[in-house]
Amino acid sequence: MQAWVIGNWKQNPATRHDVNALLDNLLTEIDAKAQANTSLLGSHSDRHCQLMVAPSCIHLAEVSTRLKHSPVICAAQDISEHSANTGAYTGDCSAKQVADSGATWTLLGHSERRQYHSEAHDSLVKKLTHAFAQNLRVVFCIGETQAQYDNKQTLEVIDTQLSVIKDLMTQQPELVASLANRLIIAYEPVWAIGTGKVPTVEEVSKTHAHIKQTVAGFASTADNMTVLYGGSVNAENADSFAADAMIDGALVGGASLKAESFLAIANAFEQAHS
Ligand code: PEP
Repeated sequence: MQAWVIGNWKQNPATRHDVNALLDNLLTEIDAKAQANTSLLGSHSDRHCQLMVAPSCIHLAEVSTRLKHSPVICAAQDISEHSANTGAYTGDCSAKQVADSGATWTLLGHSERRQYHSEAHDSLVKKLTHAFAQNLRVVFCIGETQAQYDNKQTLEVIDTQLSVIKDLMTQQPELVASLANRLIIAYEPVWAIGTGKVPTVEEVSKTHAHIKQTVAGFASTADNMTVLYGGSVNAENADSFAADAMIDGALVGGASLKAESFLAIANAFEQAHS
């Protein structure tokens, strides 16, 4: 199974200049690795790890254009819940606008959106509906807080968050057949994001097995859903996550802002999936 390593740039970098510098580094390093054949990452035919980056909405068109003929896919970090198209929704960016910018994916349900923008079930069902209507594919983020983890409620919380997918499949059964192609789940314990704390690989593996089984229950075609781990993944710990068969890749925040660490993580998954 192909691995995925996705960089969530959040509200970074601050300027177009810095965005382009990060892209320069990323593309130069990928090219250099391909030339030197030190990694399969640069070679299209044999690649086992797909790379993706999610820049801020203001940089989406520029980044998509630059990545068009590269091995890196471009994603948005969010889309409007109100309309897939146009409307009087100040500050929002629709699925259609994202697709028109050249991005082909969007993150949805990131814990920072849930925390700072009160995103919850109904809003996320609408966002997924709009994304799929505009042929955007979705990285759907789920995960428990520290208190929920301490109270051993991880699987319960995840089941509640995954009911968004279940409801969508009930509302639009025609999506069942293509769900595995359109959707990736990113399991990100909130307490691990940006903290340097990580669950054990065994804990992540068990949770991923549960997620795969649960999603297969909503859509029989999705019998091995791609499930990524996110939360303080870095160049040092990526190997241990990559070695586990239940962990299909990583959603990376902080370490995706440097080409070197992002590609070291990607390389760990590339090697493990070769
Ligand atoms: C994230 O925000 O999706 C994330 C995984 O962040 P970090 O890698 O910095 O923990």
